[in-house]
Amino acid sequence: MVSKRMQQSLESAICIRDIFEEGKKLAAVYGKENIFNFSIGNPSVAPPAIVNEAMKEILDSEDPLTLHGYPANVGHPDVRTHVAEYLNKKYKTGYTMDGILMTSGAASAIAILCNTFLDRDDEVITFAPYFWEYKSYVESFYGKLVPALCDQKTLQPNPDTFEAAFSPNTKFVLINTPNNPTGAVYSEESIQKVAEILKRKEQEYGHPIYLISDEPYRNLAYNGIPVPYLTHYYKNTIVVYSYSKTLSIPGERIGYIAMEQTIDGFEEIVATATASIRYLGYVNAPSLQQKMLLKCVDASVDISIYEKTRDVLYEGLTGMGYECIHPDGAFYLFVKALEEDDSRFCQEAKKERIIMAPGSAFYGPGWVRISYCVPFKVAKASLPAFRHLKERYENGEIDS
Ligand code: PLP
Repeated sequence: MVSKRMQQSLESAICIRDIFEEGKKLAAVYGKENIFNFSIGNPSVAPPAIVNEAMKEILDSEDPLTLHGYPANVGHPDVRTHVAEYLNKKYKTGYTMDGILMTSGAASAIAILCNTFLDRDDEVITFAPYFWEYKSYVESFYGKLVPALCDQKTLQPNPDTFEAAFSPNTKFVLINTPNNPTGAVYSEESIQKVAEILKRKEQEYGHPIYLISDEPYRNLAYNGIPVPYLTHYYKNTIVVYSYSKTLSIPGERIGYIAMEQTIDGFEEIVATATASIRYLGYVNAPSLQQKMLLKCVDASVDISIYEKTRDVLYEGLTGMGYECIHPDGAFYLFVKALEEDDSRFCQEAKKERIIMAPGSAFYGPGWVRISYCVPFKVAKASLPAFRHLKERYENGEIDS
């Protein structure tokens, strides 16, 4: 009945949403406050007040037929101009309105770019561990996702695995920093190496290889750590951005694709991506959300709340002897499982009422992901459960 392609894909997937739903069922049995559900990346900090205010103002002031009608597929021109100007001021870039395509979040932007670039069996390299949906996006367009495993000590891109991942079929590289699932912010040194290899490979194969930078967590970087803006390192960079996390509005579906006119094939790419918005059935990004950006393009949630939660978990867990890299961004902590089989480790954690996602779901076996977008008091209250879990391993109650 359903496609074999989807059947196979669903059979092999570890679905994080299912894990989340399971956590909700446990909460119904044991009480919400007794379940530590770290499975999903749904923002837990309230959107800034200006978001709702802006929407009310727009609803009251704009002509309803224009506001609720179809805008151009790529979005409202005033919004695209506003985004371009904001980016140019903030990152010293050279965007024009033509290079800003409004999208329904980052997810649709990546799908649009896959449709734009991929022919059957074309390859997309991404740094692993990676956001679990990348594989589905690429395979939906008959491409092949090629993981380049990050350095297992730092979780930064590893130049050797990256270089080895290229083939004449490589169409683009998908990079995500700050990273889901690891929380790593890729350093300037890592980015320079990535750019250097890309430039070399473009020369070797004699065609452009694009760097698609998926940046929904750009604003969620802590202690002032710099998040390099990739167009400064590599010309053929296309930025994908989303307001889902910056403004805590993932249900509203708003983001954009940004391209400078200097990238190879600019006009053809814009035209093909514009058609892809239609062909894939997105038609346009939500009109009210686009207009909201005229007033909120520089707004952000209070990230100090995430930072405080990260600190209590990172310090608590490493203090007990859990191993994890210091996560400088996003709202994820990637922790070494206490046994090789990360799925089994998650099952054991569930007995302590801790719900986490196994690293295997992100091409990071042997690790687990903690999504710490939970209330601070939940994170703090989970620490004795983590301690008990570790003690059970140390006392030989669980053979690892
Ligand atoms: N890319 C990464 C790395 C993500 O973590 C997510 C969502 O969690 C997305 C893309 C999709 O985000 P959006 O809500 O903007 O579609």
